[in-house]
Amino acid sequence: MTHFLDTLPTTENRWRALILLGRNTASYKFALGKALLDLKATPGDLLRLDELALPFALNLCEHLKTAPKQGATNINKALREGCESFNRGELEPDALREITARHGFGDVIDAFHVLSGRSLEWRFFIDERKTAKGIRLTDEFRKLGELPTAGDLSAEIEARWRVVETGWELGVNSGLVEFEAETGGLSIRSSDRRIALSSCRHTLNGYQKGRCFYCFGPISINGGDGLADVDHFFPWALRREMSNVDGIWNLVLACTHCNRGVAGKFDLIPSLHLLHRLHRRNEFYIDGKHRLAATLAAQTGASETLRRSFLQAAYANATMARIHHWEPAMRGEAAF
Ligand SMILES: [Zn+2]
Repeated sequence: MTHFLDTLPTTENRWRALILLGRNTASYKFALGKALLDLKATPGDLLRLDELALPFALNLCEHLKTAPKQGATNINKALREGCESFNRGELEPDALREITARHGFGDVIDAFHVLSGRSLEWRFFIDERKTAKGIRLTDEFRKLGELPTAGDLSAEIEARWRVVETGWELGVNSGLVEFEAETGGLSIRSSDRRIALSSCRHTLNGYQKGRCFYCFGPISINGGDGLADVDHFFPWALRREMSNVDGIWNLVLACTHCNRGVAGKFDLIPSLHLLHRLHRRNEFYIDGKHRLAATLAAQTGASETLRRSFLQAAYANATMARIHHWEPAMRGEAAF
């Protein structure tokens, strides 16, 4: 069992939080993140905009070929038109580079370090456009390259970008399958309709088998006393800070003591060993080729490594927002 990390977010967590999480579903962040990773071998720390422009634009070109929407508003208009011309063979690389360097970076450089509407105090690069026509990579960025997972970071952005595009395509918020509080069911929300899938309680109970996710106390899924709550592992209150908290990846069945009793969980973040338990649960559905396996993979990552990273980043992100962790009082024998 590989371990999830507690305590302060690492460099890697920060990178993921900036690019992969929350409302950071912007094409320019994906494109810039990938370009930086691809250019990291550049000697010296200064990356001139004219060096950065083409790798950045080519990432967008590649994605515009298969997903022309690209979140409608999150690419500069001149840059988008340049990329489209390039894809049609009407523009040379040098011309695309020039358009991108001139028009393509606008707010992008500033917005890269904004998370949940706030600019963060640490930086992967410093904006030196005014003095040196470029950006200067920091030690924080260099640390990324030394990580054992450094080689996966670019693929991780690519995977996340594709998931977000699927969301745009279907008109859903990159989640694909959501929990419907009114009906207690799972559904796919398309732009103009909801498609009901199944009872969420029945689906989740396939793994939990009548036990609370947190305390292993008995729960019922058929009404009456002890009817389980469908609980958001990462609280619904963090829906603006985190991506897709209504996704099945984040839902568990909990007894009412755990969810909203005295010393209940409410909006707290479960302690770390419970994150392991959530990961095992999701992997169980995926390994077992459950009909929700594809949805879970789309929501959290295409490989076990990516899914673990996703949960790790979500945990770091949620902990930064809520600080305190919650631990259940046990009401039954460990069952999963
Ligand atoms: Zn419980």
